Amino acid sequence: MKRLVGVSNRTAAGGPKAGGLAVALWDALVQRKGLWFGWSGEVAGTARRGVELFEEEGVEFAVTDLTEAEHEGYYLGYANRALWPVLHYRVDLANFDEEQYDCYRDVNRRFAKLLYPRLREDDLVWIHDYHFFPMAQDLRDLGWTGRTGFFLHVPFPPPEIFKSVPDHRALAKGVCANDVIGFQTVSDRDNFAKYSVAELGAKQLDDEALSLDGRRIAIRAYPIGIDAVEFQKLSHSEEAKAAIERIEPFLGDSRALILGVDRMDYSKGIPNRFQAVGRLLDNAPELHGKIAYTQIAPPSRTKVEEYAELREQLDSLAGRINGDYGDLDWIPIRYLARSYNRDQLAGLYRIARVGLVTPLHDGMNLVAKEYVAAQDPEDPGVLVLSQFAGAAEQLKDGALLVNPHDTAGTADAIHEALTMPLAERKRRHEALAEVVFGQDIAWWREAFLADLDPSGNGSGSVVSL
Ligand code: ADP
Repeated sequence: MKRLVGVSNRTAAGGPKAGGLAVALWDALVQRKGLWFGWSGEVAGTARRGVELFEEEGVEFAVTDLTEAEHEGYYLGYANRALWPVLHYRVDLANFDEEQYDCYRDVNRRFAKLLYPRLREDDLVWIHDYHFFPMAQDLRDLGWTGRTGFFLHVPFPPPEIFKSVPDHRALAKGVCANDVIGFQTVSDRDNFAKYSVAELGAKQLDDEALSLDGRRIAIRAYPIGIDAVEFQKLSHSEEAKAAIERIEPFLGDSRALILGVDRMDYSKGIPNRFQAVGRLLDNAPELHGKIAYTQIAPPSRTKVEEYAELREQLDSLAGRINGDYGDLDWIPIRYLARSYNRDQLAGLYRIARVGLVTPLHDGMNLVAKEYVAAQDPEDPGVLVLSQFAGAAEQLKDGALLVNPHDTAGTADAIHEALTMPLAERKRRHEALAEVVFGQDIAWWREAFLADLDPSGNGSGSVVSL
């Protein structure tokens, strides 16, 4: 079996193997005794720019620190304030700064230079996410000719939006130096194909292949999954039970928990969600005192201005709605700006009557899948899902799809979810569970690796969507 080399901004070294990327890559690297290359997570002076090597459970790690200037320019700056907003359709929030772009390019080149001498001829290189758009090209420029793949964890927007990035062509050309390019959805893949044909002069060979400069590039959708069996187990753990016991006294007469769990990010549509809950309380006074909406949202990227503004917006909206609708013995929105561990979350998902997942745009949204995995199939809750989450492509048959910008429509969907008869809840849950358990994290990994290594003896086969 060929050695796998994973490249991602953050590695799972030393920490818990939680979250989509970390779990998927960790398992693949353990299987193949691979190498994981990326940022150490440390910001240090200019002196520590080499690579630190160590091993954990048979996986080799090669990590490097970022300097203060790199952390500002490449990570907080270009990746988080230029690429992240544009890839989530928020050109209005993007901040394009030439110096930050140069820094992003330099970090990609520096990382490529550190990685290249460690590559062996037969390695498979798997690069992750928008932090490393140019990485494959930088490796090629150093002489690397081996199989190389890229997976984009976030959306790829329509060409008109991506073209607003001043250096869009250089970035996309860099991505095209890969042999396989993976996306979360068919719609992301098609946006990239359309862009590449129009802007790079690529030729579309078929839905899943482009040709550029005489090379064939596979482009496919591989919707990322979760370890659904593991997550289901977590929902029955002692910590899950303890979390349920703690929240139960606050659930209101109908014990109807409506749950949102998101990183505090403007792509998640949390303010829109608060407004939809406000509208629901306007429309349905009979629900006052009977439902409990809990929103768990730990602040993230707090050093970035737009995130600090979001925090203020949420504080004020939650206060307003609670002020308007709350009563002596009831608070409609329980807004918790902190994180909980996976066991606790799994327990809360399990008892939630409604899983409210309404991002304005999201690559996949794993919370939607975790919510499904944690349900009791005999008495399942209902998933209210944004049509703009990547997960909607797979989960449209079982979820109640909403447009998160449509406050009234979202409020109606929450009401429908709260009053849905058991038979329909079970039917919908069955459809959701089939996808979440069938197309899980192992399925995703094997599907990608089978394409990256067509000659290999990987255990999986590609499953058509
Ligand atoms: P993103 O990668 O944009 O944060 P996803 O929904 O795809 O969004 O993945 C988020 C992951 O982080 C999930 O595994 C989820 O359980 C976890 N997570 C999200 N919000 C919280 C929270 N408030 N506390 C703890 N974990 C969280």
